[in-house]
Amino acid sequence: MTFRAELPSALADALRAAAGAAYPNECCGLLEGMRTGNVFHVQALHPARNLAARSDRFEIDAADHIAAQKAARANGRTIIGCYHSHPDGAARPSDTDGLGAAQDDFLWLIVAGQELGCFVYRDSGFQGCVTGAD
Ligand SMILES: [Zn+2]
Repeated sequence: MTFRAELPSALADALRAAAGAAYPNECCGLLEGMRTGNVFHVQALHPARNLAARSDRFEIDAADHIAAQKAARANGRTIIGCYHSHPDGAARPSDTDGLGAAQDDFLWLIVAGQELGCFVYRDSGFQGCVTGAD
């Protein structure tokens, strides 16, 4: 199965800008949108506080998570995924990301510099995901 993420270029630019602003720490947040079959339509970003004590980790503030869910629901959408940056790493999930991932069929966007990695967590692992602007 191939997953695809439709990410408007304005949102991709906003992700890169958020990663740059948070550097050398990780930025993190949630992705609002809709899922149709294997396609994730990303329609809004919800930046969240990063509660992680270390700069190379992220932990989304639970209150921010709830606020994002409410905002998405008010727009008739849901939270379909999350994003964070790897300030000096690669745009792919780290071992720690695997340990922290829990929700199946959840989209993960990882920003490293100008690179944007896209993955879907499912069956205890990350699967590659094709990105396209729509
Ligand atoms: Zn990570």
